[in-house]
Amino acid sequence: MKKLVGIFGGTFDPVHLGHLNAVNELCTHIHFYRVHWVLSARPPHKDRIAASISQRFEMLQAALADYPAYVADDCEIKRQDKSYTVDTVEHFQLMYPGYAVCLIIGADSLQQLHGWHRYQELIEQVHIVVLARPGYSLQIPDQLRTRLVESPDQLVSRTTPGLAIFKKSAHDISATGIRTLLTEKSVPPASAKLKILLPQSVIDYIQNHQIYTIESMNPEKIK
Ligand code: ATP
Repeated sequence: MKKLVGIFGGTFDPVHLGHLNAVNELCTHIHFYRVHWVLSARPPHKDRIAASISQRFEMLQAALADYPAYVADDCEIKRQDKSYTVDTVEHFQLMYPGYAVCLIIGADSLQQLHGWHRYQELIEQVHIVVLARPGYSLQIPDQLRTRLVESPDQLVSRTTPGLAIFKKSAHDISATGIRTLLTEKSVPPASAKLKILLPQSVIDYIQNHQIYTIESMNPEKIK
């Protein structure tokens, strides 16, 4: 049995409680030695990003500061080229010999997975845990059906790549919804609405740096 290292990648524009609650709950069902939260610095499938790479990474660091087993990871920032998950997986396999790498993705990403760079190689290298998200299908692509296990904890005993669906946590929170809320309405930072969507440290950061305001929203801002 190999210990698991989790990789949870995202644009994190911003990181929110949908991410945190889902991964926290997953971690009560399955033991990860560590979970690396990898900032997708230059995501190939997203061209409109509101906050800069450094802002997104600082928000990620702030959100994870109280979690010793979570790492705000900048490996895709350092790579300079497009942020391909397969490259990140290879990076972690070198970093953690003897561990099994487990990719944690949301249900929306499951439906896009077949279009990811070097998809075939990717799926042969990792376990995958899919987090349920309200409004997104959990239909398993044909090619992955045979590797489906009943629950995430069964991945630990598998010697070949497995796929697990984690349905126990499904939070209807998205970064898009949060950005919309922040730009379209005047939401005070102490608003109860924000507190159920974002960690306090991220609310403070957004407030202090004046991001996601109408004035700051600029699609050219990827740097
Ligand atoms: P956006 O709305 O800008 O597309 P997002 O909220 O989907 O952003 P990302 O940073 O793109 O956030 O997501 C990173 C990963 O987290 C993806 O695999 C995504 O599917 C997953 N994810 C995002 N929100 C949730 C949620 N509420 N529950 C479970 N998984 C989520």
